Amino acid sequence: MTASAGVWRNWARTESVRPRRVERPTSVGAVQRAVLAAGRAGLTIKAVGAGHSFTGIAVAPDVQLDLSDLSADGHSALIDVDRDRLQVRLLAGTYLHRIPALLARYGLAMANLGDIDRQTIAGAISTGTHGTGGQWGGLATQVVALTLVTADGSLITISTTENAGLLPAARLGLGALGIIVDVTLQCVPTFLLHAVETVEPLDAALDSYLEQSAGKDHYEFYWFPHTTSALTKTYTRVPASTPHAPLRRLSRFIDDEVMANGAYRALCAVGVMAPPLVPRFSRLAERFSARREYTDASTRVFVAHRRVRFREMEYALPRAAIPDALREVRATIERKRWNISLPLKVGSAAADDVWLSTAHGRASGYIAVHRYHREDPSDYFRAVEAIMREHDGRPHWGKLHFQSAASLGELYPHFGDFLAVRNQLDPERRFTNAYLERVLGP
Ligand SMILES: Cc1cc2nc3c(=O)[nH]c(=O)nc-3n(C[C@H](O)[C@H](O)[C@H](O)COP(=O)(O)OP(=O)(O)OC[C@H]3O[C@@H](n4cnc5c(N)ncnc54)[C@H](O)[C@@H]3O)c2cc1C
Repeated sequence: MTASAGVWRNWARTESVRPRRVERPTSVGAVQRAVLAAGRAGLTIKAVGAGHSFTGIAVAPDVQLDLSDLSADGHSALIDVDRDRLQVRLLAGTYLHRIPALLARYGLAMANLGDIDRQTIAGAISTGTHGTGGQWGGLATQVVALTLVTADGSLITISTTENAGLLPAARLGLGALGIIVDVTLQCVPTFLLHAVETVEPLDAALDSYLEQSAGKDHYEFYWFPHTTSALTKTYTRVPASTPHAPLRRLSRFIDDEVMANGAYRALCAVGVMAPPLVPRFSRLAERFSARREYTDASTRVFVAHRRVRFREMEYALPRAAIPDALREVRATIERKRWNISLPLKVGSAAADDVWLSTAHGRASGYIAVHRYHREDPSDYFRAVEAIMREHDGRPHWGKLHFQSAASLGELYPHFGDFLAVRNQLDPERRFTNAYLERVLGP
């Protein structure tokens, strides 16, 4: 169970640590014993997912728990299925990309997803991972129950009927409340998405953003700085019985791998070697963007492959503020004469009641900014953050930002309630790390 500890790095290469020890428990009892042993030794302990957070939220300097070998009573990833309620119980360390096949045999699917599926289910819900869609919440809103090992080693079920008062905190707990060993998701019957991708003037996309976000099932757009167009993606949910009309394999490969990832890579290389050429290259890439229309299984449409390593900051704003905020970011990039090679992404989510959700209590829009991993993102991200804060923006917990508990506390009406739950479940801060101390306080 205890492995010799090498250096752990996150996907974005923004964080690294050599934990004192790495443990790979194979049973829930072993997770409980690991937490108790850490307590006796006065060490902190933290579960790590797939390391896809850009912040230091998953950094475990003392004991790092890797749950990939965990099984519950001999079960593999899918522990049980409630066919009447359309609910499934999954092991916490299950990778999102494994879930569609596990659910498909029961005719079920996850209601919404982000744009990649490399994360674990526990890691994704713990930072507020979300997709896009004005009527749809983030992944944490799909959680109806979870099982948690708390600091005293006990195992508690938190659900709509058991310990229900803890559910709004535990569904999105930042890894600060305990070790999640399983998660029960509310699923939906499998569905397809009819996708339409178009290129339109950025100003037109901004002018219609509120209407599109409210009226379409899933709507988002990308804007490459230095260009005047937006690449819009609109997905409509259609029944599973609808005929599939997927992108042809070759065309998908050319568009997504050669044009998208290849163009990103080329633009990033230009950004590093000859930054003043970035605007010209972006405008060239803009000319090759084309309309696409296809219908495919929901996961295949939601999820893309990201082969270019980047850094990201993302803010949730009251949805109505998105057009003005994006125009301010555009004006700042022009005024500062920055050469930004990667696009901004704009999406939306429904209001929810999860205490630390970036969409808590308000219909939200998202603006994400990216920089290639070989470029220093600080000036750009700080300037964008200043604009987002003017609009009451809340930063994604797993993406880069510069805020701390003092300012974050003002953004969430239940911040104090969350801290009270943390005090109750982890009074000695067994599950803390430097990032959590920064954003929640010591
Ligand atoms: C290329 C890329 C694309 C992305 N796309 C999106 C997107 O579309 N939408 C979006 O919202 N975000 C997106 N993200 C952010 C990402 O979804 C989140 O950072 C997510 O938390 C990563 O999941 P993970 O499994 O890697 O968790 P990690 O980063 O490893 O951990 C995140 C947190 O979860 C905790 N944790 C993990 N497992 C457990 C457990 N069993 N019990 C308790 N706590 C646990 C960790 O301790 C840590 O606090 C993206 C990130 C990348 C790198």
